[in-house]
Amino acid sequence: MLIINDPEFGEVKVRKSPLSKSVRFSISTSGRLQMSVPKYTSDFLAKRFLNTNRDLIREKLPVKDPKEQRARDYQKKVLMKKAKEYLPYRLEYHAKLYGYEYDKCRLTHANTRWGSCSSNRVISLNIGLMKVPEPLRDYVILHELAHLNHMDHSKAFWAEVGSHDKNYKAHEKKLKLFSPGV
Ligand SMILES: [Zn+2]
Repeated sequence: MLIINDPEFGEVKVRKSPLSKSVRFSISTSGRLQMSVPKYTSDFLAKRFLNTNRDLIREKLPVKDPKEQRARDYQKKVLMKKAKEYLPYRLEYHAKLYGYEYDKCRLTHANTRWGSCSSNRVISLNIGLMKVPEPLRDYVILHELAHLNHMDHSKAFWAEVGSHDKNYKAHEKKLKLFSPGV
């Protein structure tokens, strides 16, 4: 993959794909400009495409200021570091306390979910949890652990969550005030 460092648009990822037949521009979740070009496009040509399409990009695509992109990258890095030193241990702590067994803890930075639990017992936790108050963070962990026994949101599932976190309803509600995205 080629990365163009553009003074106006910041880092632009260029994906050379055997599937693309023409040049396409899009915006990543972090507000970066992305380009996909046919596989055999040279770097020189990719840069030229970018230059000749500046007006169109300015008009059509909400590219984030390069400064803002960098600030966000930095924030993500800091959160990831904090999360690595905390979330897997907190998960382990609660699992041991309540007798759950999971296979693995994975850290994610999806924009839409705080956590998930897969049928092969992998628990994913969003690094954005490091931005929310501890009781809410613990609630998400207990919620995902309860999914090890109930892969749904049935009454039995909520009863199990409630047995470990009496205030789960309030926590679930408060969590909506935060966004998992970094
Ligand atoms: Zn759930």
